[in-house]
Amino acid sequence: MKSMVAVIPCTGYEEQEVYEAIDKGISLLGGWKTFIKEEEKILLKPNLLSRANVQRAVTTHPAVFGAVARHLQGNGFLHLSYGDSPGQPGNVEKTAEICGIKEIADRMQIPLADFTQGITVDFVRGRTSRKFEICQGVLDSDGIINICKMKTHQLERITGAVKNMFGCVYGMNKGASHVKYPDAESFAQMLTDLNLLLKARLHIMDGVVAMEGNGPASGTPVNMNVILMSADPVALDATYCRLIDLNPADIPTVYYGPVLGLGYWKKEEIEIVGVENLEDYCNPKFDVSREKKYSGKWAVLGRLTVKGRKPVILRNKCIRCGACIAACPLADKALHFPEIREKASATGEKEVPVYDYKKCIRCYCCQEMCPEQAIIVKRMWRQ
Ligand code: SF4
Ligand code: SF4
Repeated sequence: MKSMVAVIPCTGYEEQEVYEAIDKGISLLGGWKTFIKEEEKILLKPNLLSRANVQRAVTTHPAVFGAVARHLQGNGFLHLSYGDSPGQPGNVEKTAEICGIKEIADRMQIPLADFTQGITVDFVRGRTSRKFEICQGVLDSDGIINICKMKTHQLERITGAVKNMFGCVYGMNKGASHVKYPDAESFAQMLTDLNLLLKARLHIMDGVVAMEGNGPASGTPVNMNVILMSADPVALDATYCRLIDLNPADIPTVYYGPVLGLGYWKKEEIEIVGVENLEDYCNPKFDVSREKKYSGKWAVLGRLTVKGRKPVILRNKCIRCGACIAACPLADKALHFPEIREKASATGEKEVPVYDYKKCIRCYCCQEMCPEQAIIVKRMWRQ
């Protein structure tokens, strides 16, 4: 049987248009009851990566979150909660407020789930990871609806349905995962295991305004005008790849889907519903890394490609806040504030943080967490 992916055109975030798009998508997939039961406690899991204004396209748009919630309540699914574990430490509620989701959730009386503590969960079936620290609010629910955002990502190249589930991992354990799984391949395998453990019932991608370039937090918003929906996160992400003219087989979070038993990415294994021709919605100019995935005896080339990139701070944008240093998951940090120069010291001025590229594992947590979009990723041979 093929994995079904609904691709629904949606040209903006006007409330009724988004509501109708979700309505069409869920009808094509068989209705809400195909995925959840009325008596179940359902967690809505948007992308709440950071405290970014909604126009920056960092987080799931509140209109998409609101439309899904409105549909569910209207169809008698009343035991809803919502939450995410943002990259920035601190209050989840504050992040949800700045992203515009809290206001809608409050209005609809949907409580924030408990993302302030984590519980260790064994996953004996895991091929890469057999233990996860999962947020209490996730474990309190019977099922998850994953409402992700269409964005680029410096480590995995795209972040979509599979990657968005990482926000179910508790707080600082996310950084530890980067140290334990330091490259795109092992990190993707861990994410696949996580998805197999949590088994979200449905994945809904906000691709109305996506993020290209320096994602997932510092990129450029771009209109893609679609909402994608599927029970198969791999098929959904593979469809996202095809919409930006990217080979799904080159993306680790997609590639490992069938290898580890999460889902399917090949064209012949996916049934697209909602549009006649996917190509009509394709944006081949979408700014994303199109490097090939090297495996087997060519894997060494892949490692060189990774080492050939590095995070760089733009001095004119940096406000010397230190969020990048705090985000670095390495115990002995791969970037730090340099010794304060005599002159700067006298004025209380701080220098821009400096990298130790020998230590740096290229996880790009620093780039993700910079509030000023001051960190870019460069290829070394271009300098
Ligand atoms: S997080 Fe960004 S703005 Fe803050 S010190 Fe680092 S590079 Fe500069
Ligand atoms: S410096 Fe940045 S990219 Fe390097 S290990 Fe630290 S957070 Fe990751």
